Amino acid sequence: MGKSILTRQLKRRFQALGARWLDACLPSTCLLCGAPGATEPLCPACAAELPALPAPHCPLCLNPTPYGERCGACLQQPPRFDHVIALYAYAFPVDRLVHQLKYAARFSLARHWGMALAARLDSLGTPVSRVMPVPLHHERLAERGYNQSLEIARRLASTLDLRLDYQNLVKTHATRPQAELPLAARQRNLQDAFACLADLEGEHVLLVDDVLTSGATLDAAARVLKQHGARAVSVCVVARTLRH
Ligand SMILES: [Zn+2]
Ligand SMILES: [Zn+2]
Repeated sequence: MGKSILTRQLKRRFQALGARWLDACLPSTCLLCGAPGATEPLCPACAAELPALPAPHCPLCLNPTPYGERCGACLQQPPRFDHVIALYAYAFPVDRLVHQLKYAARFSLARHWGMALAARLDSLGTPVSRVMPVPLHHERLAERGYNQSLEIARRLASTLDLRLDYQNLVKTHATRPQAELPLAARQRNLQDAFACLADLEGEHVLLVDDVLTSGATLDAAARVLKQHGARAVSVCVVARTLRH
């Protein structure tokens, strides 16, 4: 039994490695329109058409507000993180692309988004001391073979020569997907879901994830980082789900 689980995990790791290698070696065509000869996973025309975030928007949750001020919900119950940067609204075809990275190991997308987020980091004002991807529980990691958020964080950190730390924020238990749960259960689901193993006294930590939906996961992670001394926690995501 133990042996077969190990074999399966090893197989997944090798599959992820194989996918990474294939992704790097295949001649690039745009993932959306198939245009050949691209150096990036998307051609410039498709990249320009991806769904933008509303302008102006609340700086904490990115939902639209008339003058870019904090929204009512964030004033009433501010999240534990201090700033959010997102590249896109989570809508077609960004949802499909995120899916491609998450389940089909399209690592070229992680590199592309990591660099795009790095270019936006100036807007945070103060320098970042540590980049931490939102971790997967080890069972989920074994299942998938890689953590998509780490792949984005890796390129973001290397582009700006920042310290990448993917070991000191850990997921302590497997949580059910938030979308399946009612609101009260979502909060319970995340209670103590994360642990931090490092002293972050006075640090400005950058948390990296693929998608920001309710913000509850990032809020729970930011809470733990602040309990361990982080002075500020900023968040970088590829896409933000917007309220309709
Ligand atoms: Zn294209
Ligand atoms: Zn808000």
